[in-house]
Amino acid sequence: MKKKLFTIMFSALSFMPFFAHANESDYLYSTLWFQKAQEYKANTLSQYKLAKLMLDKAILDKSWSAATSVQGKNYENKPLAVVLDLDETVINNSPFSAKLIADNKYYDDEAWNNWQKWVDAAIAPAIPGALDFIKYAQEKNVTVFFVSNRIGTQEKATRKNLLSLGINLPKDIDTVLLKKEKKEWGSKKSTRRAHITKNYRIALLIGDNLGDFSDAYKGSLEDRDKIAFSKENINKWGEKWIILPNPLYGSWETSSYGSDYSLSRKDIRKKMIEKLDIWDGK
Ligand SMILES: [Mg+2]
Repeated sequence: MKKKLFTIMFSALSFMPFFAHANESDYLYSTLWFQKAQEYKANTLSQYKLAKLMLDKAILDKSWSAATSVQGKNYENKPLAVVLDLDETVINNSPFSAKLIADNKYYDDEAWNNWQKWVDAAIAPAIPGALDFIKYAQEKNVTVFFVSNRIGTQEKATRKNLLSLGINLPKDIDTVLLKKEKKEWGSKKSTRRAHITKNYRIALLIGDNLGDFSDAYKGSLEDRDKIAFSKENINKWGEKWIILPNPLYGSWETSSYGSDYSLSRKDIRKKMIEKLDIWDGK
């Protein structure tokens, strides 16, 4: 009897590290903040309010363009467009992140299969402020484009999700421009911005990732600093480039470990910790 009890206790103990680990997901604080913090919601509402003010300025100033690298010449009289990213800019996928925490998982191959299921479910809620901004722009005859790195095969489900949120998608032009819909549309978004500037003046770029604004987002953290805060770009923030907070994931975190997806979770964490500015305690 005693031996049996010992065996049961021992087996329970051997599972302890598993459960302890489940409670120590790296995603917990960021996901809780994203879903529940008034500070998060106040932030996205503020950014979308700013976007409205800046859109009004862009309407009045015909020389204004948020995509100077691809805007080309003689754009002043083209109709206006705004370009928004989708994930964590217009739609909120944090329930997917929360499931990773609950299941004690990270973004691995299995998680990416589940991501497809999440996309197909088309139930992502809206980021606070996004729907109001989209409606505001459309009421001013500004065409709203969505440039997202969801892949082209996910367009049907993505459109279903956007429509379910009450977003008006025009029937005569494709405004949902996903990755690989055309051969030259890769992860870098400037080819899709160039597609839009053929017929439009881009008033604003709105996103949560440096890649929503510049193609040079995949370098080291130092390279990203140089691009994001160059003399040319630093004043675009909060004016032509509106950025929303995303502490869940992004090129900021993959850059911290050289975007080397072959690394183990342990090695990724080690490299991330090495990037921290740590007080020496003295
Ligand atoms: Mg995004």
